[in-house]
Amino acid sequence: MTKLVFQVKEMKFILPRLMKKINFKKNSLVANFTKVNWFTFILVFAVLGVTCQAPTQKKKIMARNDADQPVIRVGVLQGRAQVDFRIEGKVSFVNRDADFVLRGLPGGRWKIEAIDSKPAEYVYQLAVGTRKGRWQAEEVLRSVRNKGLDAHISKIETNNLSIPYVHKSVYQIVLDKKFSSGNDAKTYQSEIQEKTNSEIIKIPQNDSEGTLRFTNLDNNYNFDSPGPIRLRTSQIQLADVEVGSGFHWETTEHRAYGGTFEFLLDQDGMITAINELFLEDYLKGVVPSEMPAGFPYESLKAQAIAARVEAVSKIGLRHPFEPFDLCDEVHCQVFSGLSHNAERSDMAVESTRGIFMIHRNKITEAFYAGVCGGHTENNENVWLINAKGYLRGVLDRDGNRLSTPLSEESNVKKWIDSNPDVYCSSTRKNRPTSVNYSKKYFRWQVEYKRQELEKIIREKTGEDFGELVDLVPLKRGVSGRLIDLQVVGTKKRFIINRELPIRRALSNKTLYSACFYIKKRGRAKGLTHTYILKGAGWGHGVGMCQVGAAVMAHAGKKFDQILTHYYQGIFLQKLYN
Ligand SMILES: [Zn+2]
Ligand SMILES: [Zn+2]
Repeated sequence: MTKLVFQVKEMKFILPRLMKKINFKKNSLVANFTKVNWFTFILVFAVLGVTCQAPTQKKKIMARNDADQPVIRVGVLQGRAQVDFRIEGKVSFVNRDADFVLRGLPGGRWKIEAIDSKPAEYVYQLAVGTRKGRWQAEEVLRSVRNKGLDAHISKIETNNLSIPYVHKSVYQIVLDKKFSSGNDAKTYQSEIQEKTNSEIIKIPQNDSEGTLRFTNLDNNYNFDSPGPIRLRTSQIQLADVEVGSGFHWETTEHRAYGGTFEFLLDQDGMITAINELFLEDYLKGVVPSEMPAGFPYESLKAQAIAARVEAVSKIGLRHPFEPFDLCDEVHCQVFSGLSHNAERSDMAVESTRGIFMIHRNKITEAFYAGVCGGHTENNENVWLINAKGYLRGVLDRDGNRLSTPLSEESNVKKWIDSNPDVYCSSTRKNRPTSVNYSKKYFRWQVEYKRQELEKIIREKTGEDFGELVDLVPLKRGVSGRLIDLQVVGTKKRFIINRELPIRRALSNKTLYSACFYIKKRGRAKGLTHTYILKGAGWGHGVGMCQVGAAVMAHAGKKFDQILTHYYQGIFLQKLYN
């Protein structure tokens, strides 16, 4: 121990001077050293046990564990010019090929900056969908071509997970037309909106340029790297991680992570931070972020399985062009590293280790959301993906279907104004106290003066529609969630399509759900004075209703009963031990 203390103390003294002079270029340790400095460098590193491996020693840093569980890469920070972090204990810096290693450096406060960075040049295109199977992609291609649009299928290799029943690549249907600016792509996107929904994809034509500069703030020494650098340490704490971007709970917090950490310059020349870790460890950082750890145990187990399935099934679909598999936000699944870990949710992950939901020899999708509002939604009504047999909307209670379809306007009004006795109902008897926070989501109401709502819609959609004349629901899904909403203005009328764009367009942040009806109050100058949105539920409503799952578990249902209620026709299988 004495020796160790001595080493760290000495390093603090010697390394700052040395490190300032080290400049690492691609695949070689460089460089502008005098002979004396090289000698000191080698001597000090040998004495202090800090190793710098020779470029010839190439090996994989973190081999995927083929025999057991998969390793996944989670993007936790993107688009940053600077990242601050703190290391507990010592840290090693390694590049991807392991031909550059700095081992046993002191921890403490560090920062990384993107130096002299220059973004790549892009070509912008529109993707109209991504499918796991070629024939499903061909189906989309045919329908796009039938609408007079030229398109092709682009195959993307997505993962090499070592488990069965999982896709290895995805097929993206891309329009042929290319644009040199994002704005031109956006203009074309709205021109063809009547024909198809699409998302803008950026295809880099060259590499971005720049250097990552790592600085230890306690010792004030630094080193540069042009390529990705991986950190191996017991724990890293990142400052200012965004949480809930664009939603009503948006904030930032400091977060701790285990596993391997990687920093790299993305195509925009900005810093991306990636946590690479075992799937089961990842789940321990997801389950308590996606479901309160105080929920009944069987619902935590159902959540652990849903999160495991969701992670694996989203790889390649959500971030096909990015250097990570999943992001850490609602878009993929909320992952907060080690920051919110709880014993109960850890146990729920461990006791269901390796268990997946299977349907027709494939790992399923496993969407889930906070409060369905009484009825869950068909998947194809929410996203641009094929209808899945096990993702049909269900009434959130045992027994019969609804006799009055919620896709009809008059029925949905009655439904929202009523208080149906469903699992996630806020007034249901025998609810666990842990779900009390969710009462405000079961039925809710938002009120806007017309001018206020006009301003929000204008800002969110970028449409100059004049004054708001009306909001007209055109199409709803089986849970009553809006699929198409028409905005009628004095200058023009347009349609907002799909639940998330609708939720975002009608709120400064995001509405709780797209299951709402529109009530109008008062008139002034021939226009409505106040718009009242009366709604049900929180979230997209596809798959498991989390509060419903908690109430089912509280009533004695087991995790498999919960899962087969929300995902009908699936079976459970353990794919690794
Ligand atoms: Zn994502
Ligand atoms: Zn529900």
